[in-house]
Amino acid sequence: MSTSQEPEPLRPLSDSQRETLEEATSSYQAAVTGHAGTYLARRGIDPASAAMFRLGVVVDPMPGHDRFRGFLAIPYLDHRDQPLALRFRCLAEHDHRAGGHGKYMSETGDTGRMFNVRAVHQAGDVIHVCEGELDAIILAKLGLHAVALPGALAWQPRHRRMLAGFSRVWVWGDPDDAGADFIARIVRAHRAAKGVRLRHGDVTDTYLHGGGNALLALIA
Ligand SMILES: [Zn+2]
Repeated sequence: MSTSQEPEPLRPLSDSQRETLEEATSSYQAAVTGHAGTYLARRGIDPASAAMFRLGVVVDPMPGHDRFRGFLAIPYLDHRDQPLALRFRCLAEHDHRAGGHGKYMSETGDTGRMFNVRAVHQAGDVIHVCEGELDAIILAKLGLHAVALPGALAWQPRHRRMLAGFSRVWVWGDPDDAGADFIARIVRAHRAAKGVRLRHGDVTDTYLHGGGNALLALIA
């Protein structure tokens, strides 16, 4: 476990970067195909949730996105629902490494953003932090204000500042070693943070296994 390696601080996006991201997000959002809809439905994400988070599919790739063709597009929206970054998830059921890519991919040099930062603006005293974007969407569907911090280096000092004002930070780490590490890092950094004990896989697995009540019971 290493906490010494921290990526560079985020630079603000230029207007043209913002425009390009908006154009890509709109285009991909308009192209949500039957296949992706089925994939999302199987993960508990209905069309209303997909629309709220502006999920899309890379049917007609923007420049530089050819390698993400056919992937699910997951925009990192700001509090005005404008994209700050895009992440991509391969929808094929195959060995992703043999296909020359990861299951989840980001644009080069774009790491360490918090997914669904608008939850920080909308939440009252309580916020939820999970490991996956689609897990955060499930929690949002239950009326919880949830952000996601995917990736091993996702927890950074600026995230501590973003969560500083909350009197409770629920941390939904997956029930594995990486999830335990995820919880431990945040609990060390934030005295109001508390790990949630997931037992049936991650947030999505738990939702599919026992419905929303199975998740809500863990924080009752
Ligand atoms: Zn793949």
